[in-house]
Amino acid sequence: MDSRRESSETLRNKCAACYRQYNRMEHLVEHMKVNYHSVHEPRCGVCGKHCRSFESLREHLIGPLPKVECARVFSVRGCSICLNIFDSNAAVRHHRAACQYTRAAPMPRGGITGRAVALACKMVGGVNDGSVDLCARVCLIGEDENIIFQTYVKPTAPVTNYRYEVTGIRPEYLRDAMPLKVAQRRIQEILCNGEPLWKLRPRSYGRAKILVGHGLDHDLERLGLEYPAFMIRDTAKYPPLMKTSKMSNSLKYLTQAYLGYEIQTGIEDPYEDCVAAMRLYIRMRSQAHPRDYNSGSGEVQNNYPAWRQRELERMSPEELLALSASDYYCWCLDY
Ligand SMILES: [Zn+2]
Ligand SMILES: [Zn+2]
Ligand SMILES: [Zn+2]
Ligand SMILES: [Zn+2]
Repeated sequence: MDSRRESSETLRNKCAACYRQYNRMEHLVEHMKVNYHSVHEPRCGVCGKHCRSFESLREHLIGPLPKVECARVFSVRGCSICLNIFDSNAAVRHHRAACQYTRAAPMPRGGITGRAVALACKMVGGVNDGSVDLCARVCLIGEDENIIFQTYVKPTAPVTNYRYEVTGIRPEYLRDAMPLKVAQRRIQEILCNGEPLWKLRPRSYGRAKILVGHGLDHDLERLGLEYPAFMIRDTAKYPPLMKTSKMSNSLKYLTQAYLGYEIQTGIEDPYEDCVAAMRLYIRMRSQAHPRDYNSGSGEVQNNYPAWRQRELERMSPEELLALSASDYYCWCLDY
């Protein structure tokens, strides 16, 4: 009798998203308040469990200590790149050809660039020990992966380390390169696309471009550019693409894990970084999530006011989940 009571109690206090169990309902309510579960979280295609990131979903499915039943199904019908489950082994094999990208970019198609542009820089070293990053090369591409703008940039301080093995940059490439001010203006024009910067608002930014990249804070800072945070999609800071520890993954790792090919194997080309970041962005944007769901603008807010505590403790785990909203702006909402 007692054990039966206990098991139904525990079941009632099981989070409907991540399946964590609590002895007391008030602890589940606390859990929901700080976890910001939502329909936009990566989910296991077998058991439906929500995960904070694709990395934790990967651990759930592939290991080192996976959920046994899910891992068994995944090994037969799962795609190790997008982590989706398919109807049959044949369906996965068919799907993989489209899911795995190759290093080669598609042939330029011209014209359409879409609403997003990707930006990447390569930095050389300045100041005595060469530890200060100076932007020496910048590239911008459109959604079609065609180059919109690419140039060497004349660094604003003396270069003490060209970092040739990584950047492939020689002194003569920078001697008559474009001054930083000119590159700045050109990039700002591309991003704003005719809209005044001060006029841009989260849901009304007209023709201005969404800016995609990896670690964009640093790139923009080195370029001396400002762009509103709500226009930026950074693959280093997007929660579903971050580590379980909430640290950023490298672009090299993300490209290997979620696009299925290698980048940055020798001399690094900013164009290649742009393509990888854009492909990751488009992949995240194409996630099938409900569009009418209120995921907010990325501001931290929870829907569990303290005055409703008693009412919340009487709700079912499903009802609690239905109230929950994510604390980040899901990129699927750009689509
Ligand atoms: Zn949970
Ligand atoms: Zn979404
Ligand atoms: Zn599962
Ligand atoms: Zn796939």
